[in-house]
Amino acid sequence: MKKDWNQVKRIIDTFENFVLTTHVNPDGDGLGSEIALAEYLKSIGKHVTIINKSPIAYNYLFLDPFHEILVYDPHQHQSLLEAAEAFFILDISDWERLREVGQFIQASPKPKICIDHHNCPYQFTDIDIIDASVSSTGELVYELLLELKAPFNKRMAEAIYTCILTDTGSFRFSNTTPRAHHIVAELIQKGVNSREIYQNVYEQNSPSKMKLLGLILQNLNFECSDRLVWFNVTQQMLAQTRAASWDTEGFADFPRSIQGVEISLMFIELERSKTKVSFRSKGKIPLNSVAMKLGGGGHEFASGALLQYPLKDCNKIVLEETRKLFK
Ligand code: 5GP
Ligand code: MN
Repeated sequence: MKKDWNQVKRIIDTFENFVLTTHVNPDGDGLGSEIALAEYLKSIGKHVTIINKSPIAYNYLFLDPFHEILVYDPHQHQSLLEAAEAFFILDISDWERLREVGQFIQASPKPKICIDHHNCPYQFTDIDIIDASVSSTGELVYELLLELKAPFNKRMAEAIYTCILTDTGSFRFSNTTPRAHHIVAELIQKGVNSREIYQNVYEQNSPSKMKLLGLILQNLNFECSDRLVWFNVTQQMLAQTRAASWDTEGFADFPRSIQGVEISLMFIELERSKTKVSFRSKGKIPLNSVAMKLGGGGHEFASGALLQYPLKDCNKIVLEETRKLFK
């Protein structure tokens, strides 16, 4: 897919002050894309601020050793948003998932650029560089940096590597394309230490997180001739294991590894009437239609939604819709 990077170049050339942001609960792809692009913009003398709605999970802190990424606080950061001459929105094309930062940007008359790999059925910003065929947003940022003839420093290379590593599920998911491997090979050539990044991202689990996983695995529900598996993460389970809701990152993928399972669903009880649902498919049954129907979105085989209902009601609503996929 040919992308119009010239429009992005023009914005970068024209303005001096940029704000970058990504979705709530940022993952390796959102954060890595921000860091790589910010490093480039700083290297050509631009002023860059990264402001996200949510803090960085501990396993991604290595990407931001100087704590440059700000967690949005309306009292402190309003003036920074107002001072921005242009905005980059990375790894998301849905205003809702940008929360208050998104509300500000959406209302702002300043130019906006979206770089993302989630399908968006409508024009999202002034300049949308959206390509659902790539492995990750980091892959698109890499392409932009090549177009800009950016010299790569180690930090940029590590950031892009993290994007591709995490969004392909360590090179296991169907978005693990030859191009993704090719870029990763180039990044390793530029000095990325793959073992070090793997350890940072995946080998810093807390005992609480492992205890929670143990509890989850003992309480899986099987349906539809064992082709559908689902589980709940209740506030009680979090309290019992002293885990936090973000410790569940990656857990939705686990039951999918069971032989014969086609779809796995994770329900997290965030509040009394707020439930997060993660949808995962092994690759035969696309399920983002269900996530979208419930107000969420994502990829064909990995999507999510935030529902304003209690956990038990969400179980009922989501399972009813998901069972239809097996008929
Ligand atoms: P996860 O289940 O790991 O949170 O998310 C899986 C995929 O679904 C990601 O690509 C993410 O962007 C998307 N996703 C997760 N939650 C939501 C949501 O509430 N709304 C939308 N539109 N997409 C979501
Ligand atoms: Mn992504």
